[in-house]
Order: sequence, then C-alpha cells, then structure tokens
Amino acid sequence: MKGFEYLQLELDAMKKEGTFRQLVPLESEQGSKVIVKGKEVIQLSSNNYLGLTSHPRLRQAALDAVEKYGAGTGSVRTIAGTFTMHNELERKLAEFKHTEAALVFQSGFTTNQGVLSAILSTEDVVISDELNHASIIDGIRLTKAARKVYKHVDMIDLEKALIETQSFRKRLIVTDGIFSMDGNIAPLPEIVELAEKYDALIMVDDAHASGVLGKNGRGTVNHFGLDGRVHIQVGTLSKAIGVLGGYVASTKSLVDYLIHKGRPFLFSTSHPPAVTMACMESIDVLIEESELIDRLWENTNFFKNGLKQLGFKTGISETPITPVLVGDEALAHQFSDKLLEYGVFAQGIAFPTVAKGLARVRTIVTAQHSQEELQEALRAFEKAGTALGII
Ligand code: PMP
Repeated sequence: MKGFEYLQLELDAMKKEGTFRQLVPLESEQGSKVIVKGKEVIQLSSNNYLGLTSHPRLRQAALDAVEKYGAGTGSVRTIAGTFTMHNELERKLAEFKHTEAALVFQSGFTTNQGVLSAILSTEDVVISDELNHASIIDGIRLTKAARKVYKHVDMIDLEKALIETQSFRKRLIVTDGIFSMDGNIAPLPEIVELAEKYDALIMVDDAHASGVLGKNGRGTVNHFGLDGRVHIQVGTLSKAIGVLGGYVASTKSLVDYLIHKGRPFLFSTSHPPAVTMACMESIDVLIEESELIDRLWENTNFFKNGLKQLGFKTGISETPITPVLVGDEALAHQFSDKLLEYGVFAQGIAFPTVAKGLARVRTIVTAQHSQEELQEALRAFEKAGTALGII
C-alpha cells in the first residue's frame, strides 16, 4: 500500500548510517541466560534486577489468579474493573513505600503521564532534570504548566530555576531516582533541602531504584533516609518487581485526585488478575528474600570493577546499570553485534535515547547471574572491545 514513502526514506537513511535496528526476539524465558537466534547467550540487557520475572512464587501466584479469577478484568477501574486485589496491591505498595496511599497505573510510562498531566495547571511550573526519562518528558508535554529544565544533577542550576519561578502557585521538581542510561543516583538530599527552602514539591521516579536501593528495595527516598519529605514517588512494577505496571505512592488526597483526574487510570482497563497477584507476591519476596538484593550488589561491584580493569569507560554509574561508553552510534551497534557473536546480549544504545556522540552498550547485571557467567561476559567484552579498537 502506498502512502508511507516519506517514512521509508528516513528508515533508508538510518540503514545507511548504521543505526537501523531489528528487534531481538528472545526464544526462552527471561533470565541470566536467554536464547537468541537459537543460541544461548548471557543476558545483560534486561531490567530484571532480582530475577523475579521467573521466580517460582510469582509464577504460582499468577497461575492461581488465572484459575480463580480468569484472564482479564473486563473494564476500567472506575466502571467495573476494580477488584479487591487491586486495592490490596495498592495498600501493600503504600506500606512498602511508607506513604499514606498508592495508585496503580497500566505502566510506569502512563503513571508519569497521568500524574504530571493531572496535577499541574497554567498557574504552576514543573522543573525537570535534563536527563529525566522520556515518560516524564512526555508527561510534561501534556501539562498546561510552565516548564524549566535544569542541567543534569546540577544543584546550582536547580536553585536558579527555583529563584526564577517564585511567582507560580506550585513548583514541582521532577527527577529520576536512578538515571536509566548512566546509572547514577539523583542527589536527593540536596534536592529536598532546596525544595524545603523554596517551598517546592518533589516527584521522584524510582523505576530503576525500587527493588535495588533502600531497605528491602524501598527506593532512593528510603535509601537517603528521606521518608516523609518527598511528596510523590513513582515506580514501575516491570523492572525489579518483575511483572508489569506502574504506581504512584503519595498522600491520600493526591491518590483520590488521580482517581478522578488521572487520564490513563480513568480510560484504560485495569490489570489482569495474574499481573496483579504476581506483583503482590513480588513485594512479599522483596521483604522475605532480601538476600537477592545483596547478591545484585555483589554482582554489580564484581562486573563494574571487571569492566574498569579491562580499560572500558563506565562513566558515572553507581548502580547495576553500567554503560560502556563508545561515543560513535554505529560503533555501539557493531560492539553489541560482536558481543552477541561472543555469547553476550548487551544492547547498543544511541541517539535519540542518549545524546549524539554518547552512544554506548548498556549493561545491567542481575541477582541471577553467577560469578562464572559474569566472568565469561567480561571475557567476551575483552575480545569484542579489542577487536573493535575500543580498548
Ligand atoms: N521511568 C523510568 C526512569 C524508566 O526507565 C522507565 C522504563 N524504561 C519507565 C519510567 C517506564 O516504565 P514502564 O516500563 O513500566 O512503562
């Protein structure tokens, strides 16, 4: 069918410059090793931090939920799609995050969009770190509020933005807790101090920090001992939690407001029973099996040090997300392809996900990896990095 020649032209240009990507289908379940193109490779590209996607307790919870409640829910939450299990999951999340209330959305992406678009108006301003996740950027695009972007984790620039915006009704500072491409942690204690000094609200997206930082993986707010001083915590149920969905944890009034005004909540069908029950089980696992988090950090330190010793540049990472910086877009993809040839699945990440000239292969270790697997992965990095002149 004719009509999309203009898109094909762009795709052809991407193919020419080496940035066109095919999706890589996994032929096995998610894990420390996966099957790609018929070959077993070490998985260093997932967000499955604790290996919970295939945890026996989550599998069983999902199976039991299907048996008892069926496959779907048949409605949006506000019509007939709220089951007691949805409310129970929200109660558990609020308890876990030490907040009054929580509300679940279809994904972390829609949570950011739903929260930001609902709570800000023309009298308000949102002040956002320049490297915040795309879902925050898109959420901000949906608000009628004024916008300011501060330089990445630059507290002088944030303070400048706060000084310049004193006439607004509400100022909302938004930051990722752990930044998804560089793996650094937001300077939350300093952000909280500035917010308190200038009477601003704070929203933290802990998509990559929940299950990773803080007691039992409660996230950056808990990690820094800032419980009760951050107004809005957003998270995902799809990364360390291992399933699917997003949530906001905050006050009861914010949650009640979002039930009435959060558009993805209002107009999109609720989570199926298997997803909801598996998420609940996952929170119990975080509480009862905290050794998984210890193992994640042991693996992180082992692998990050190994990469550094080989001479790779890993930037400012402080968490299980470790970028291996190469700069050139096409080289990042070649590096990723070479790694796959040598038995490691680690995705090349280039513009527009990261700025031009900052292309990289991003690695994420999990609690599931054995030291032997990580050692084997380091050998593959050494071979591929040497072959391409990166080290
Ligand atoms: N926020 C951040 C910081 C993320 O990295 C992601 C996932 N890529 C999201 C939100 C979106 O979460 P989800 O995958 O649940 O939509």
